[in-house]
Parts: sequence; structure tokens; C-alpha cells
Amino acid sequence: MPKKLTFAEKKAAALRRAKKMSGPEPVTPPGVKTIPVCRPTLLGNEKKYVLKCLETNWISSRGRFVEEFEDGFARYCGVNHGVTTNSGTTALHLALASLGIGEGDEVIIPSFTMISTANAINYLGARPVLVDVEPETWNLDPELIEAKITARTRAIVPIHTYGHPAEMDRIKAVARKNNLFIVEDAAEAIGAEYKGRRAGSFGKVAAFSLYANKIITTGEGGIVVTDDEKLADKLRTMRNYGFTEERHFWHKVVGFSYRMTNVQAAIGLGQLERIDELVQARIDHAHLYNSLLEDVRGIVTPPCAPHAKNVYWMYGILVEKEFGISRDELRQKLADRGIETRSFFIPIHLQPVYADLFSDEYPVSEELGTKGLYLPSASGLTGKEIEFIAGVIRDAGEGR
Ligand SMILES: *Cc1c(COP(=O)(O)O)cnc(C)c1O
Repeated sequence: MPKKLTFAEKKAAALRRAKKMSGPEPVTPPGVKTIPVCRPTLLGNEKKYVLKCLETNWISSRGRFVEEFEDGFARYCGVNHGVTTNSGTTALHLALASLGIGEGDEVIIPSFTMISTANAINYLGARPVLVDVEPETWNLDPELIEAKITARTRAIVPIHTYGHPAEMDRIKAVARKNNLFIVEDAAEAIGAEYKGRRAGSFGKVAAFSLYANKIITTGEGGIVVTDDEKLADKLRTMRNYGFTEERHFWHKVVGFSYRMTNVQAAIGLGQLERIDELVQARIDHAHLYNSLLEDVRGIVTPPCAPHAKNVYWMYGILVEKEFGISRDELRQKLADRGIETRSFFIPIHLQPVYADLFSDEYPVSEELGTKGLYLPSASGLTGKEIEFIAGVIRDAGEGR
């Protein structure tokens, strides 16, 4: 019989696995022209609207672009209200706080996600509870959620990883049955659809990031969307120190200083006017990558479930043994030619800050963290660049 490991032994083994997932970043030789993993495309009215802010002196969070952007973004997602913030992480924090989640509560998240999902829960004194992801979509596995629900569980936070929507019908069924909120972390999924409905419209509330590498951006920024008018009012109040209407400097809740500026919203509005084009470019690039990489032995191209519209925020691939060289060796070969990549998330249970909280196993998350990398994915990428990148991958697999 295998020896039962102590908690300390398990932790030591987990940290060894984590180290393997995060080797040194590959280095591009000096003088080689680089293709960045991402860059914003700012070719519409962004500049004109920013100048308008400067000319009219409206540079704080007061100003017409903020509301215009909020309304437009919410409408795009198919919901009624949008409340901007200064980052995706603060959007998540605000969304969870607005539902009254706090000390001692538990919130279910996938183990395969960015640190910010776990942090937003942690800021509130609540505890992130991890569920592994499914190999089919790289998202929260609906089968595994119920085993993690306790009397303290308040919400489920699905992430639409790299632009592929989570299995929302089944997640919603679990949430309904157990009386839990759904708070979507839709940071990576602007424009993604599940059975014809857009990301951001599935939960009580959803949070998006508008960081410069997201599908549309305000530089730094975020937005919370909801259909619930009361909740939208609460989000607005809490974003702004909890100021009340009845008296200035009169506070009944602990609010935050999380507002977006008019200048950021001006950029966002310029982006929003071209959102269909920016989303479609990501999809077209992914289709071209797929066609060039599908038959490369040992390369797994990203998932797309039949009912899903994957917007491929980042085009991620898995490098299997049959490829011939490891994921990290491939990353170095790409870097040699100026092609920037990122390895996938290191799962939350392996993060030094959170490792002590978890003793369960998350094999799919670990497999993705070990084998995954994403390729240049900006909306402004050219077909030529994609062909060059795919060619370098093909050659690397054939030992060239
Ligand atoms: C980008 C991202 C965030 C954080 O957004 P910031 O604007 O950088 O705070 C949160 N969750 C996920 C899944 C993300 O990809």
C-alpha cells in the first residue's frame, strides 16, 4: 500500500512541481525584432476622445465618457447596468463585496486561474475554495463543484479561460440548487458566447478587466455588469467611498476608491466602437493558427465546444511528449526568433501565498500549467506573423 503522506510532505512535493512550471523566462538575443504576446490596437476615436477630456478639463471620474462607456459596454454584454472601476481585480473585489461576501465565507473558484480571482476573495476575509478544471474546455469542472460546497459557501466564480466560456448551464444548475451566487470573472472573455448569450450575462454580477492586453482596453481598468438595478446602485456607491445621496461626507458602508477616470473611459469608448472588429480579429487569427498547427505532432490546439463562441483572448497550445522537445525548450526556440510567449497559469494551490490552504489534488490544472503556453495573440497581429510563428513551431518539432 502506498504510504500516506503528511501535509508537510504533500506541500513540499507541490512546491517542487510548481518550480518546474515556472522556469526562467526565455531570452531573446539583442537586435532580434520581437513579436509581443499582446499589444493594444488604438486606431479609432481613442485619441480624439482623450483630447476632448484634456480640452474640456474633465479628467477625473466625473465626465460624460464614463457613463457612455458603461452603458455601451453593458448593452454589448446584453445586460442593463455597467459600473466601471480602476482594474479588473477591483471590479471583482467590488462585485463580491456588493453581495455581502465577507469574513468566514467560502467562494468556489477554479484552481486554474489568475491570482487576482483568489486575491479578490481573500481581501474580504473570505476563503477561496478550489475546484479543478475540465480537460475539454480548461474551465471549472461542473461535476466537481458539489463536493466542495459547505454551509459557508456563498458563491461560485467561474472564469472563461483564455476566452472560452465556462459550462454555464451546469454551473448555474449547481448554483440554483445550493442557493449560491454566480459571479463571473469574465476578464478574458469580452464578446465570448455560450449558447448564443454573451459572457457577463450569466451571473448575478460579472467582472471584466480592461487592462492593456485584454480584448478591449482602457489602459488599466475594469467594469462590473449586472441586470439588477439595486445592485448597480450599491456598486456605484461602494466604488466611491460609500458616499450617500442624503448628505455629503456621510458614510454607512465601508466603500472603496475604485473609480475609472474620464480619460480611461474615453479610450474605452473608442475601443467599444470597434469591438466587433477587435473580437473577430482574435477569432480569425485563431482559425489561421489552428489550420497551421492542427497536424503538428504533439501540439494540442485550444478547445472550442460546439455551443461556444471562443474569442481566443490568448491563443494557448499544449506541448505533449510526442512533440519531441519540452514546452520550455519550445519557448526558448521561439524567443530566439523574437517570438514572445507566456507559460500558462501556475495553479492557485501551488502558489506560495496560498499553498498552505489546500491539500487536495488538481491534476488537470497541473497538466495545463506544465504543458501550456500562449502565442502572440493581439488583435493587430498579421497573417504573415502567424505563418512565421507556426513555421518556427513546426521546425522546432522536426528538430530544426
Ligand atoms: C486580467 C485578469 C484579471 C485581472 O485584471 P486586472 O485589470 O489586471 O486587475 C482577473 N482575472 C482574470 C481571469 C484575468 O485574466
